[in-house]
Amino acid sequence: MEADEAPLERTSHGFHIPGSSIYIDPKEPVACAIISHAHGDHAIPGHDTVYCTYQTAKLLRARFQNFAFKIVTPQWQEVFQIEGINFRFASAGHMLGSAQVVWERNNITTVYTGDYKRQLDESCDPYEVVVCDNFITETTFAQPGKIHPPPADCLLALKDFPSTNFVIGAYSLGKAQRLTLLFNQFIPEFNVMVHPKIVKYHKIYEEAGFNLGKWAPFQRQVFRKEKGNIFLVPPPVLQNYIPSENYLRGMTSGWEHLQQGYELNLPISDHADWNELLQTITDSKAKKIYTVHGDDEQLKNYLSSNNILVDSII
Ligand SMILES: [Zn+2]
Repeated sequence: MEADEAPLERTSHGFHIPGSSIYIDPKEPVACAIISHAHGDHAIPGHDTVYCTYQTAKLLRARFQNFAFKIVTPQWQEVFQIEGINFRFASAGHMLGSAQVVWERNNITTVYTGDYKRQLDESCDPYEVVVCDNFITETTFAQPGKIHPPPADCLLALKDFPSTNFVIGAYSLGKAQRLTLLFNQFIPEFNVMVHPKIVKYHKIYEEAGFNLGKWAPFQRQVFRKEKGNIFLVPPPVLQNYIPSENYLRGMTSGWEHLQQGYELNLPISDHADWNELLQTITDSKAKKIYTVHGDDEQLKNYLSSNNILVDSII
């Protein structure tokens, strides 16, 4: 590897470490994969050997049969070697088990963040700052002024409607567990029920030691006859609920277009917003920033105008 060579390249199989057979979050089955977290846009089945955190392995086994031939699960910060390169996992604060992948090569430390956030989330381990030379950051919400409000601000609005029910859409894995905990923290007077597709992930979170508070599998009779219930559903299920005087609907997402068409406004995201991106780039003390996942144009312009070296990984 040359000193000025990009630490990661995008190939038809996904992100690849040059001069090795190692892929990170590959899009096609490969011999050697490092997987940052269990979301479907980062983890697919069919690899020979997978390196991921123990919690991610548990979630992936629940999602896929025959996820990989061999799964290696190093502890947080435990050094593991592949093809002579030293790797370790640092928490990304995105969801249960989500990791930044850190590696050292020729005395150069590189961090691939995967998805991450800095906002408090007690349903998983918090983001861990890693000082490095190369910082490869996701850019999902890399637009100036894109700021996620505190989740409590959104959820306390539900108190204005004490005599109705709610149907709230959330991704089954990660967002649904964080929301269940937030409901219990900020609006505990409501009864939380979850869709059958979400239940298995709630159980894995609780087995991993993250108490989500009070919740129960969905009970149709209770939802029909009583008020003060929140029914947490996957996004496709929410779309089946037409407007009704029996409930209010909302979709939790950082994307405004996904929230539109429902009665409640719930801009709750598990990705870093503009300020979190800038803060994390500063905290990394990296000499070079690389961007992946998302529209990076405005972030590149901003960093370049502040004399920070930045490049897209393409
Ligand atoms: Zn994710």
